[in-house]
Amino acid sequence: MPQRLPDLLIPKAYIGGEWRDAERRFAVTNPANGETLAEVPDLDGDDARDAIAAAEAAWPAWRKRAAKDRAALLRAWFEAIVAHRDALARLMTLEQGKPLAESLGEVNYGASFVEYYAEEAKRMAGETLPSHGVDKRILVFREPIGVVAAITPWNFPLAMITRKCAPALAAGCPVVIKPAEATPLTALALARLAHDAGLPAGVLNVVTAAQPAAIGEVLTSDPRVRKVSFTGSTAVGKKLLAQCAGTVKKAAMELGGNAPFIVFDDADLDAAVEGAIASKFRNSGQTCVCTNRLLVQAGVYDAFIDKLAKRVSELKVGDGLEEGVVQGPLINAGAVDKVQSHIRDALDKGARLICGGEPHALGGTFFQPTLIADVSDAMHVAREETFGPLAPVFRFERDEDAIAMANATEFGLAAYFYARDYRRIWHVMEGLEYGMVAVNEGILSTELAPFGGVKESGLGREGSRHGLDDFTELKYVCVGGL
Ligand code: NAD
Repeated sequence: MPQRLPDLLIPKAYIGGEWRDAERRFAVTNPANGETLAEVPDLDGDDARDAIAAAEAAWPAWRKRAAKDRAALLRAWFEAIVAHRDALARLMTLEQGKPLAESLGEVNYGASFVEYYAEEAKRMAGETLPSHGVDKRILVFREPIGVVAAITPWNFPLAMITRKCAPALAAGCPVVIKPAEATPLTALALARLAHDAGLPAGVLNVVTAAQPAAIGEVLTSDPRVRKVSFTGSTAVGKKLLAQCAGTVKKAAMELGGNAPFIVFDDADLDAAVEGAIASKFRNSGQTCVCTNRLLVQAGVYDAFIDKLAKRVSELKVGDGLEEGVVQGPLINAGAVDKVQSHIRDALDKGARLICGGEPHALGGTFFQPTLIADVSDAMHVAREETFGPLAPVFRFERDEDAIAMANATEFGLAAYFYARDYRRIWHVMEGLEYGMVAVNEGILSTELAPFGGVKESGLGREGSRHGLDDFTELKYVCVGGL
């Protein structure tokens, strides 16, 4: 039976405070059963230019508004999101597939950025510095950067939008959002709530499209856009970064990862197993900070695999709306192919299948939570992000081997490790070339901390006060003749 969508959803693009339709529309489907949920406008480059024009027109008034006013509007948006949390979570599970409890968690996480930056909007401070002459003064203003283009992925349809838009709006920047083609409905519901909360026309715009390249071309080349904030794959990020070069646009890139999860001999193994489950199988393994490689020290290798296998085989797979389900479908058939190819490659090269390994009996894009052992760096999974429910275990002997293995990747987003010895903890924490390190923890995302990667995992940080600074420019003013 077709699922009823929440009333708050208007399945139209949102430009300059108005809902825009198009002759061409594209279907948004439920990955749990392939059903069409809604059709949304398939916009083109001209529509993207209209959205940029609307944002540009809204900018002078938005930046001039008292910080307290911007804060109050963000607070109203936050309250609207919280008031509609159940409807938003359901919508997200329908279009993305994640279990309802995870969708609710994402609504809370996503809303937390709006709340945080509503507060932080009031604290965007400049500075005065000691000057280079008795008759001069040095002032440093922090100013909004201008129109921001936000291009977001399907794996977190709500939080990746608020994590960019809330600090941008708080800083005084208008935004044009291009949500992922698989999950535009949550973005449009957020826009509806922002509209109802009283955000002025043009300050927030959503452009939907089935083929992102034409819109991306406009957003990265139009001189009115001053910053592109992208979350998605490293391959697309590199392309957009190159496109931004033409107008020397600032770019923030939250890209892919290849997260190691290291278990040392002295770790609390039960805690490590729970951490591994949370960091590996959340969102069916489809998060950028998901564990991609489990590195386990020889002394606890067999014991850890036994404990983890028991937990992995208990994970309930099914439609995210069903009670008790902890793993939903994968986003599409391509995602299933990738998981299968990583498993096949590893088994062909000598890895050992512990549990799972096959598409799930439910069919479609459901896949069995899978654990493989005796994995080596000759296998694809050592270097590539699987983005699915596959946990590959590597064995190591010495601490320095684990650090070297963890760093042997062009990525550097999140790393996890479990240990008790404090000297070891410091040594490993300092040795990991990652933007984020979790020690004896399986989940690290919070609005209070700077989220982001090093190496090919990206540029810039989201969350915390650093996330606000990324949407500002410094203006130095020298006042002379005093
Ligand atoms: P993707 O790169 O395919 O798509 C991301 C967004 O870019 C989508 O909106 C898509 O429509 C758009 N896009 C694709 N091609 C484009 C083009 N030529 N021009 C303009 N826009 C274009 O990524 P995805 O499959 O949606 O997301 C999964 C990837 O995102 C994974 O690699 C994951 O690690 C990464 N990710 C990173 C973070 C982070 O914070 N670092 C968070 C979530 C996801």
